[in-house]
Amino acid sequence: STAILWFRRDLRLSDNPALMAALDGCERLLPVYLHAPDEEAPWSPGAASNWWLHHSLQALDACLRERGSRLFILRGDSLACLQALITATSARAVFWNRCYEPARIARDSFIKQQLRAQGIRCESHNGGLLFEPWEIKTGADQPFKVFSAFWRRATARLAEIPAPSPTPEVLPPLPEAIASGRTQLSKSLAEQPLERLDLLPRISWDAAFPTTWQPGAAGAQARLRRFLDQAAHDYAETREQPGVEGSSKLSPHLHFGEIGPREVLKATNATVGDHEAFVRELGWREFSVHLLFHFPQTAEVPLNPLFADFPWRDPTPPELLRAWQQGQTGIPLIDAGMRELWHSGWMHNRVRMIVASFLTKNLRIPWQTGARWFWDTLVDANLANNTQGWQWTAGCGADAAPYFRIFNPVRQGERFDPEGVYVRHWCPELTRLPKRYLHAPWTAPVAILQQSGVELGITYPRPIIDLADTRREALAFWQQLRDTD
Ligand code: FAD
Repeated sequence: STAILWFRRDLRLSDNPALMAALDGCERLLPVYLHAPDEEAPWSPGAASNWWLHHSLQALDACLRERGSRLFILRGDSLACLQALITATSARAVFWNRCYEPARIARDSFIKQQLRAQGIRCESHNGGLLFEPWEIKTGADQPFKVFSAFWRRATARLAEIPAPSPTPEVLPPLPEAIASGRTQLSKSLAEQPLERLDLLPRISWDAAFPTTWQPGAAGAQARLRRFLDQAAHDYAETREQPGVEGSSKLSPHLHFGEIGPREVLKATNATVGDHEAFVRELGWREFSVHLLFHFPQTAEVPLNPLFADFPWRDPTPPELLRAWQQGQTGIPLIDAGMRELWHSGWMHNRVRMIVASFLTKNLRIPWQTGARWFWDTLVDANLANNTQGWQWTAGCGADAAPYFRIFNPVRQGERFDPEGVYVRHWCPELTRLPKRYLHAPWTAPVAILQQSGVELGITYPRPIIDLADTRREALAFWQQLRDTD
């Protein structure tokens, strides 16, 4: 019999439960990718994600070809595409790995229902998480809203996680109709060459991406090996330092499912003695999906309803937003982070928290605006993680800390980038400034600025806001909200 394997965000052959299930008894296998970004609205993938997707699909196709198969790409309504493929190939079964964003859950449930009604076997699997988002519950059978309690419950069950499955050496042949090119698909559903999906940018802002990233399963495995050989051993200390390659940079690979969390967990357990801190971050990834699954409205609105009334600056001053987006705020750590994001499609976790705090607390621009910018510019843009990260930082999400946390980017810079390696790299116009003034150039005496070739307002901006005043204002607004609660 013939089976269809629908690749989505599981762009790998190793530890792929849908693939393993499809292989069980099928004689012919059709691996497909269906391009339907509108079905993910209002969170259709952004520009940086699309860049990654293009290269990742290319890599997946190459892996399939090495095993005697290939990737068949269609664009259009996913259900219509699957139905056309079923008719053309006489397939009797469709397999996929689950996604957990609200729009995808709705779409996939509908497709499953429709195909099953036509007598097609339809199976979805967990290829992307250590635990399904509904598996970890409080004693009262409720979802968790506090990470530490969630993770305590989850870690007690880590031993239950099944071992990752191996990569098949050979794959079944394509269905005859596809292999021979005699597909019965209508013109509107013709096979699409990858280039026709228009995933790559027209203006080449992505020039630096290939020097940082190798999308695809081989790139993911190489990144994991590099991390386990090096940074993993000091992760608990170095993960906080943006000037050091102290974290795994696996996030885009995990997002696109080029590697699964079970593989990462198994390799880490086997290689790194003290792996608790790193595995805990995988736990945050699980927790984010748990939150979005149980509180699907949170991609748009605060988990804590009190924040629906937060007095954001209205309307958003475009010059403040632009300065933040372009890394021209005059506050070096913020600018370094925003430039890293634009240049490489990624930003260090601590710096993400600091730039998000700055946008929402000091500039008082809604977290949703920041989340949208990240969505378009991050190669690891992920609805669950991004929503959770922004809500946590804005102070309106799941958060065990009861105070209104406002990061001071100068203190944070002095603490986590004490030698200024990170700031000097991304803000080269400040390179010659002594480290004492690097995180707050406006405090440097004129003579020092002159010696360092820095002219505030000319070679580097003056701060667009006063950090202390805006902090006081934000705290006052927060207090007002609490008083009216
Ligand atoms: P490592 O430290 O090596 O961690 C390993 C893996 O654990 C990561 O690859 C990631 O999958 C997961 N992880 C780590 N930290 C977190 C976290 N705080 N929350 C959830 N999962 C985590 N992460 C995304 O993957 N996509 C996003 O769109 C995203 N947006 C964010 C927005 C904000 C405002 C903030 C504060 C954080 C956001 N994060 C997001 C979480 C985190 O910053 C990144 O996952 C991390 O920086 C990725 O780098 P890494 O792979 O080197 O992480």
